[in-house]
Amino acid sequence: MVKAIELENVDLSLGRGAARVHILKGVSLAVDRGEAVGLVGPSGSGKSTLLMVMAGLERPDAGAVRIEGQELGPLDEDALARFRGRRVGIVFQSFHLLPTMTALENVAVPLELAGQADAFARARAELDQVGLGHRLSHYPAELSGGEQQRVALARALAPDPAILVADEPTGNLDEDTGASIVDLLFRMKTERGATLVLVTHDPGLARRCDRTVALRSGVIDQARSDELTRGRA
Ligand code: ADP
Ligand code: MG
Repeated sequence: MVKAIELENVDLSLGRGAARVHILKGVSLAVDRGEAVGLVGPSGSGKSTLLMVMAGLERPDAGAVRIEGQELGPLDEDALARFRGRRVGIVFQSFHLLPTMTALENVAVPLELAGQADAFARARAELDQVGLGHRLSHYPAELSGGEQQRVALARALAPDPAILVADEPTGNLDEDTGASIVDLLFRMKTERGATLVLVTHDPGLARRCDRTVALRSGVIDQARSDELTRGRA
């Protein structure tokens, strides 16, 4: 069976000179199709960086990354960007919407750039799905945090990606708004049959995943991962 995500001995350092940091140290991880993995660990342990590697936004210095059986290493920048656009949806803590574009444009323009013919119709349908059909022409500054994250989720899901990665998607939201985003995230994941990797500090949220992976100083702590996975409600 092809795995959704396979990392083999991934090593990555970032930064220059004295600021160079060895962030990921021989990380190996396989995620099944349709699985939801909660990625936890102390601040600075490398969670966001690991997510960027899975999304093809950072290339490891050593080791292999395969997404849906496709080895990312040999792809040139254009091919990697195309692959990412089609196969990977990304949601960030701070939404990352373009402030000069409306909600509709934020979802439609990336689709259009990816060559999707019916980009605006599709974007409208996606925004409808996340409950924002009535906010299409609002700019991000005119939307609440929860609404902005819904737009970001619609944008991530619009290409129908095989894998969805989310980096503390509720980190900037109040508890109730965060909970509704999480419900939406899991509902969309299940409806689309996507694979989810979710970075979170929230133990309750991690427990909603099929499995927990614990990172510590750039290494997977297997004992802690097993303990947290067993401890799920
Ligand atoms: P986490 O998401 O678990 O908090 P990160 O993956 O963001 O951790 O970062 C891991 C470590 O790598 C941190 O110490 C951070 O300061 C460092 N780091 C992250 N990105 C860079 C970069 N571009 N250059 C140098 N150091 C970085
Ligand atoms: Mg982080």
